[in-house]
Amino acid sequence: MTDTSNRPFVVAIDGPAAAGKGTLAQALAERLGLPHLDTGLLYRAIGKLMAVRGFDLDDAELAGEFARNLAPEDLRRDDLRGREAGELASRVAVHPEVRAALVDFQRTFAARAPGAVLDGRDIGTVICPDADVKIYVTASAEVRARRRTDELLAKGRDVDYARILEETRDRDHRDANRAVAPLRPADDAVVLDTSDLDRDAALAAALAIVAAKRAARG
Ligand code: C5P
Repeated sequence: MTDTSNRPFVVAIDGPAAAGKGTLAQALAERLGLPHLDTGLLYRAIGKLMAVRGFDLDDAELAGEFARNLAPEDLRRDDLRGREAGELASRVAVHPEVRAALVDFQRTFAARAPGAVLDGRDIGTVICPDADVKIYVTASAEVRARRRTDELLAKGRDVDYARILEETRDRDHRDANRAVAPLRPADDAVVLDTSDLDRDAALAAALAIVAAKRAARG
């Protein structure tokens, strides 16, 4: 049998917006004792940096330059988590120049021992096609929009479910139909539908998937 004990153990979590993959990836990383990279933050930071300086997000060359110059402190901005940054992210994420500039950073993160959990849209398909575990986390657009609406209402924000549902569908469409690295499950990904699962149940299901893959890897 091949000795795989020193090879980094990589878990790729992909899926559409608000499917719960970020929360799941973080909890999974903690349970497995692995570092976690939320790759959406990279795209969010680029979108936000360009928007606050008034640059055109459709300018692929310029967006690529921002991506090449992205610094660790850019990811620590406190305005990257919201819906607006998510929208900006999905606009710059369509540019091949941006995606190409971020590949090495993500692969280097994944390649360090003892491994890592990365979540995004193209981790299992493009960034880490040889990941040990690939989970595609999804839920219906209605469930995702409902979760997002409830989160925002809990924060005291004035939101409208119908609008959030429309935004969710628009972002899915943009992510799934872009020419480069469109959102889709890798052929060898396990699809985890969280529509009827709470956080604990989703984590338990993901841990079971990891355990099965670890046993198979030996
Ligand atoms: O996951 P998150 O909502 O933070 O991602 C924001 C946007 O960034 C996504 O809608 C997608 O357009 C883009 N993204 C991507 N590839 C990734 C992570 C995020 O294209 N690996």
